[in-house]
Amino acid sequence: MPHRLGSVLIPVPKIRDRVEELAAAVSRDYAGKDLLLICVLKGAAIFWADLSRALTIPCQSDFVAMESYSGATLPLAEPRFTKAAGVSLEGRDVLLIEDIVDTGHTVTHLKKSLQAQAPRSLALCGLLDKAERRQVEVPIEYCGFVIPNVFVVGYGLDYAQQYRHLPYIARVEEVG
Ligand code: 5GP
Repeated sequence: MPHRLGSVLIPVPKIRDRVEELAAAVSRDYAGKDLLLICVLKGAAIFWADLSRALTIPCQSDFVAMESYSGATLPLAEPRFTKAAGVSLEGRDVLLIEDIVDTGHTVTHLKKSLQAQAPRSLALCGLLDKAERRQVEVPIEYCGFVIPNVFVVGYGLDYAQQYRHLPYIARVEEVG
């Protein structure tokens, strides 16, 4: 599909300030706990990198990967794990780091799989929330921004693997 980069939805300073606020809340809530960040690749990688470096408490990190889109913007019926966590979650305080919650299916599936490994607690930190698209209810304990129903890229998010490196979040527009 021909497309082009559209207008900026969330500029760099707004992202930086919000990530710092989220990190402060996580640092406060998880002080004295056994915090394990699980970053969902690839989209949450930049968010995780900034958020984790702004934490003021000890934590460990691991990575999982899910496939939820085939091609560019076409969702798969059932999201699939392409990389599972490499450490034990048992008894840990796990915080899932996601780029965006859209319909809610991916994160629901992911939380079910992680819950089966008996963490002490399991919460979600999502940078973006497309709340009006939700099909299954998902609590987002730490939410960056609620955004409208537009396809966005940048700050880790891609369109056909492009635009992840952009420091801001922008719309993608179809052309032609
Ligand atoms: P859900 O299962 O909640 O519908 O979809 C979640 C996944 O879809 C996200 O982790 C992300 O990979 C992808 N996704 C949903 N909306 C967008 C969007 O606007 N831009 C990008 N780049 N990915 C999106």
